[in-house]
Amino acid sequence: MNWYNMRYNMLGNTGIEVSELCLGTLIYGTLQSRMSPTESEPAIKRAIDCGINFFDTAKGYATYEHLRIGLDNFPNAVIASKSPVKTAQEMRTDVESCLRALRRETIDIFHLHLIKSIDDLHERTGALESLIKCKKEGLIRHIGISSHSIAGARSALKCADIEVVMPILNKRGLGIADGSRDEMVDAIRELRASGRAVYDMKALAGGHLIGDIPSAIEYVRDLDVFDSIAVGMKTAEEVEVMVGIFEGDLRARERALDMGRDRAGKKRLIVYDFICERCGSCISSCAQNALSMGEKAPVIDESLCILCGYCGESCPKFAIRVI
Ligand code: SF4
Ligand code: SF4
Repeated sequence: MNWYNMRYNMLGNTGIEVSELCLGTLIYGTLQSRMSPTESEPAIKRAIDCGINFFDTAKGYATYEHLRIGLDNFPNAVIASKSPVKTAQEMRTDVESCLRALRRETIDIFHLHLIKSIDDLHERTGALESLIKCKKEGLIRHIGISSHSIAGARSALKCADIEVVMPILNKRGLGIADGSRDEMVDAIRELRASGRAVYDMKALAGGHLIGDIPSAIEYVRDLDVFDSIAVGMKTAEEVEVMVGIFEGDLRARERALDMGRDRAGKKRLIVYDFICERCGSCISSCAQNALSMGEKAPVIDESLCILCGYCGESCPKFAIRVI
């Protein structure tokens, strides 16, 4: 029995109906909490019980196994995945490995991951053409892009094949690589007017807004521009609290504030300078320009870092990661 009252929206013109709250899985994988699929299973199962039907993942998150196990008895889940590759062959490989890992015949949305600009989109023409072919063959249903920048989000307006956009937006505008919060809102409104589906990433700014979750969520909801809002939720309790906030439950708001007080400042990026070889790979992988080379190892600008953990993926020595 479902005691919850989740709201559902059409995802742009895709014909897919998604819950307003989407479960983001970045938090479970190797870039962040390094939870096992068994550890994340209670949160995913609780999300389903609460009416969440939309799940966001990516090749780089390493969370396909978490989703496969969590969604075992829920074939109707809407799944979005992403890959940052540029060539057609690489993209084909990534779509096929996603299908195999999730044991599905089709993926609902497949994104070009972290598009920075129209030039970047052009450079990934091979990957995009591969997604168009995968769509014709029924391996994916819709093509999308995710982006941390206004220029990246706007690039979708130039390409009719892109139907879904996942831009970064939060109350403080943290993590937008090339402009202000309000400029990103303008870009999102244009995307909406063009008929694209838009769902939000980083409403809590990777944890920076955890001290006041209710108002951070209220900000993105009240804009009325998103079909869904992706939020990472580690435990079944976090799922219940977040669902309660979306439903206006005052006790959930209080609990979220308590949880935020407990956790504020605990999530952080660390660099093990005794392991670091100063190769600089993490610095170039950070879309936020939050890293610069210091004397022994990269130095973090905490005002720019959104704790996404992507730099960790690029480190050959495992010397940098979000804990
Ligand atoms: S420094 Fe790392 S965790 Fe911080 S924003 Fe850059 S890539 Fe993300
Ligand atoms: S990628 Fe790893 S080894 Fe290279 S500079 Fe960054 S932390 Fe150091």
